[in-house]
Amino acid sequence: MTPVRTRIAPSPTGDPHVGTAYIALFNRCFARQHGGQFILRIEDTDQLRSTERSETDILNALEWLGLDWDEGPGREGAYGPYRQSERKDIYAEHIKTLLDNGTAFHCFCTAERLDTLRKEQMEAKLQPGYDGHCSHLSKEQVQSKVAAGEEYVIRMRVPAEGNCEFYDLLRGEVSIAWTQVDMQVLMKSDGMPTYHFANVVDDHLMEISHVIRGEEWINSVPKHVLLYEYFGWTPPIFCHMPLLRNPDKSKLSKRKNPTSINYYRDMGFPAEALVNYLGMMGWTMPNGEEMFSLEAMESAFDISRVSLGGPVFDIEKLNWLSGKYLRESGSDEEFVSRLLTWAKESDRLSPIVPLLRQRVERFSDVAPLINYFFSGDPALTQDSFAHCKLDDNELSKSLQFTLWRLESLGDWGRDSVEEALMTLAAKLDIKVRDFLAPLFIAISGQTVSLSVIDSIAVLGLDITRARLRSAIEVLGGISKKQAKKLEKEFTAIG
Ligand code: GLU
Repeated sequence: MTPVRTRIAPSPTGDPHVGTAYIALFNRCFARQHGGQFILRIEDTDQLRSTERSETDILNALEWLGLDWDEGPGREGAYGPYRQSERKDIYAEHIKTLLDNGTAFHCFCTAERLDTLRKEQMEAKLQPGYDGHCSHLSKEQVQSKVAAGEEYVIRMRVPAEGNCEFYDLLRGEVSIAWTQVDMQVLMKSDGMPTYHFANVVDDHLMEISHVIRGEEWINSVPKHVLLYEYFGWTPPIFCHMPLLRNPDKSKLSKRKNPTSINYYRDMGFPAEALVNYLGMMGWTMPNGEEMFSLEAMESAFDISRVSLGGPVFDIEKLNWLSGKYLRESGSDEEFVSRLLTWAKESDRLSPIVPLLRQRVERFSDVAPLINYFFSGDPALTQDSFAHCKLDDNELSKSLQFTLWRLESLGDWGRDSVEEALMTLAAKLDIKVRDFLAPLFIAISGQTVSLSVIDSIAVLGLDITRARLRSAIEVLGGISKKQAKKLEKEFTAIG
């Protein structure tokens, strides 16, 4: 029996997502159940979108949840490096193997040609994909184009007919027609591998036995299976987990639900409660118990108990479970110590001290002023906005525009938040005071608070988003149709 080795392979391109923790949890349980290893690999081949900060956040979030890994960044094992950006030589060597055995080819097609091709295919209602234009070039033709300095990518060959059959641990035999599979680019013109190529090479070299990942990757399996075949390697066992969903059953998205693990940490959910909740996504303990620890889940784990119906990530249910943890686990002393650790770790106080000190005479004045930094969404009603100059529609619109504007901020510093909001107010032609008034309410629930701009900077995007969204709901919400209209307007003002 080959040893069990599982992995998660997040791309460090954003906030640490609850979906990453969910997949990590199941991979870890599966590895533990079989006495195997759980590996963390950072897939940072997208150099434009990958950031160090995102990688650090992902590592910290997983550690906070107790989902630590046996091998990976910071825990070097025998299969490193565990960051794809440090493995370029390995990919260069492997692409050569495929070019030499003729299973991959150089493609010199320009972006314009590919664009026209796609448009034609769409018009003719054909499956869009590469048409094999460069796949018949002779060795000499390729050599002379390369020598002439023409840009190229490397693509894989794909059978023209028949089906790719593979086995999925949860779904059994799956069959996908080769006509559905594109001649995937394996190496980009800048010499960086694509996800598919690096992922397969690494899973093989890291001796991953089971690839347990989100359902959204199932259509990529044929490309992967084919690459294993081209290299003469045995593929791992595939297992595609059901995707987490919003309560309306759409794919979990930050537009409808906070998805960043940092949000849940900052809001003071105990890590065990979040892990427990993620364990309930598509899985149940054999004894039906809803409150269980990571260790209990690991020892009772059985992947065949995963059900394929889309698990709903419902904050109300998470609140309930989290409440149970706060009430039922640990002594009162532990409660106090964890509460203080939370308040300290989520350090919202230090950045606002300079503002705070100007407003207080005694320490006892502090709590009411900073209360909203530590609480959930403020309890608002339509009346909370009664003193605002804008009418309800304008209020929702300016809050929604604020949210969109903040979401596109690259740098989340006080000054960029200020600059973004001031520019937006000017573009909307609203007086700064009238523009900020509803924001004060949405963010702090109070008419008077510490500077709202500083508050937003300290609270961060996730909590700000949740509060703006809940304020918009209180004001009557924005329908899909209105949202479309607003989006157009927002794009128009730039
Ligand atoms: N880098 C991919 C992601 O971000 C990994 C997918 C996989 O597990 O193969 O989800």
